Amino acid sequence: MNVLAVGCHPDDLEIGCGGTLIKYVKAGHKVFMCHITNGDMGHKVIKPEELGPIRIKEAKKAAELIGAEHITLNVSDNADYLFSKETEEKLIEVIRYTKPDIIITHNDKDYSAQHEATCEAVKSLSFAATVPHIITRSEHISNVPPIFYMDTLAGTRFIPSEYVDITQEIELKLQALACHESQIKWMSDHDKINFLDFVKTCSKFRGLQCGVPYAEAFRQYAEWPRLRPYRLLP
Ligand SMILES: [Zn+2]
Repeated sequence: MNVLAVGCHPDDLEIGCGGTLIKYVKAGHKVFMCHITNGDMGHKVIKPEELGPIRIKEAKKAAELIGAEHITLNVSDNADYLFSKETEEKLIEVIRYTKPDIIITHNDKDYSAQHEATCEAVKSLSFAATVPHIITRSEHISNVPPIFYMDTLAGTRFIPSEYVDITQEIELKLQALACHESQIKWMSDHDKINFLDFVKTCSKFRGLQCGVPYAEAFRQYAEWPRLRPYRLLP
């Protein structure tokens, strides 16, 4: 399978579905990790123009560790519209280029309006990717891809419908997250939390719910024609 994960900010995927992506790679599937913004507002000291490239480099390193291909749309966190016409076209092209059998993205309700906008964009643009008269570099895809929402930050307002056991993957997931050095610092300075411990706790909590030490939680976007008669998560 081709697995496309689309997060808003450079570290969102490691937080929400890093263990699951590692599991896909281990099973021989091709994984693409795409983030929309360059996360250039996420620091107290480092200026945006300097932070954007640093965060892209961090995300690249994390994707390498996971064994995924890294893609970014490189939009500023501070853009007037997260999804301008140009950004929409870029995301359609990413969906066509990766030909996903499954897309993982943010839940439709989350603490960040940008996360929610990313979810909406993935839903509408993954349909647009099948429309031949919308022209991008790659040819249109023939099937409307299934979508799964990953957990929200801290699991608020998220009732999972499926779980993935990441007990064997939790250490590598945390190592991938630790590649985002600037964000470990930001979460400590801005939110007063130990981010690695925060994410480990969330995985432990989801594990508790399904009877394993560590898990990640998902919810399927259960709309026609995106359903399949077999399990898509590992
Ligand atoms: Zn985010």
